[in-house]
Amino acid sequence: MINRRKFINASTLSAAGMLLSAALPEEVRASEKSGLFADKKPAYDPVKEILKYKKIDAHNHVHLFDGGPEGNIEFAEKFGITKMIISRPITSGEGTPKDFRGYNDLVLKVMKQFPDRFTGQLTLNVNYQKESLEEIKRCVGEGMIGLKVYHQVKINDPLFYPIIEKFIDLNMIIHMHAHCQLGFAGYRMKYDTNSKPNTSIPEDFVDIATRYPEAMFQYAHIGGGGDWEYACKSFRNHPNIYVDTSGSNNPENMVDAALEILGEDRLFFGSDNCYYQSVGKILCSGLTETQRKKIFFDNYNNVLKKSGRNF
Ligand SMILES: [Zn+2]
Repeated sequence: MINRRKFINASTLSAAGMLLSAALPEEVRASEKSGLFADKKPAYDPVKEILKYKKIDAHNHVHLFDGGPEGNIEFAEKFGITKMIISRPITSGEGTPKDFRGYNDLVLKVMKQFPDRFTGQLTLNVNYQKESLEEIKRCVGEGMIGLKVYHQVKINDPLFYPIIEKFIDLNMIIHMHAHCQLGFAGYRMKYDTNSKPNTSIPEDFVDIATRYPEAMFQYAHIGGGGDWEYACKSFRNHPNIYVDTSGSNNPENMVDAALEILGEDRLFFGSDNCYYQSVGKILCSGLTETQRKKIFFDNYNNVLKKSGRNF
C-alpha cells in the first residue's frame, strides 16, 4: 500500500521552471511579500531549493537532445547538476561497429573537453560480439565508467552474457533503455508508442538480474511514460536492479512510491535531458533531506565507488 502524503503542489515547480530562465524578478518577490500569504511563512524559493543539492545526472545524453555539450552545460548550471553521466546510444539505424565507435568517440571528445562536468558510458551492439568486447576495453581504458545500451537486443539475450560478465569484472553498471506498456490495471496501452520488439521490459531485467546477481543494472527512466509502478514492484526483491527517475512524465507520487517499494538506496536522479520535470519531481516529493541527497548524488556515487571511479 502506497503511503499518500501531503506534497508541495507540482504547479509551484512548473512555475519554478519558468522563473529559472531569468533571475527571480523583484516584482515577484514584492508581490509575494504583500500578497495573501504575506504574514505567513516566507515564500518558497525554488531557485534556492534547486541549488541546495549537488547532483549526479545518472541518465544524460550528448549530441542527441541539447545539441553539443554547451547545451548540456547551460542546463547543468541552471539546475546545479555537478556531474552528468553521458552517452550517445544507437537510437536508430543498423548499429554497426563503425556506428557505435563513432558515437563513443563523440562522448570521449566531450569528456576530454569538459572533464569536470562529464563522465561517459559507452555503447555497443552485441550482434557484433568481438567488436563490442574490444570497444569495452578501448572506452573503459579512456575513462568511461559504464555501459548504455538500447533496443537492438534484449538485456537477457544470451548474446549479452559475455558483455555482462565483463562488466561484473569491472564492477560497473549496465544501463539499459526499457519500457513497460501494461498501463493501469493490466490494460494494454491503446496507442502505438513505436517501441521496438526487442526493447527490454521489466521481466527481462528480473530474468538477467537473477542469472547474474553480482551484476548491476539500471532500468532507464521510470518517468518515461511506461507503467513505472509495475516495474518497481517487479524489482522489489532484486537488489542489483536500480532505477533512474528521469523522463518527461510526472505522475503524482511516483518518486515517493518508488522509494517505498525499492527502498532509498536504489533510486538515481536522472534527467534524460528533461531537466525541469526531473528536478521538479524530486523536490515535489515527500522525501526526507537524507533521502533527497541519496537520490540526487550519493546512490550513484556509491555505485561508482565499487569501481573506484567515484566523485
Ligand atoms: Zn535516454
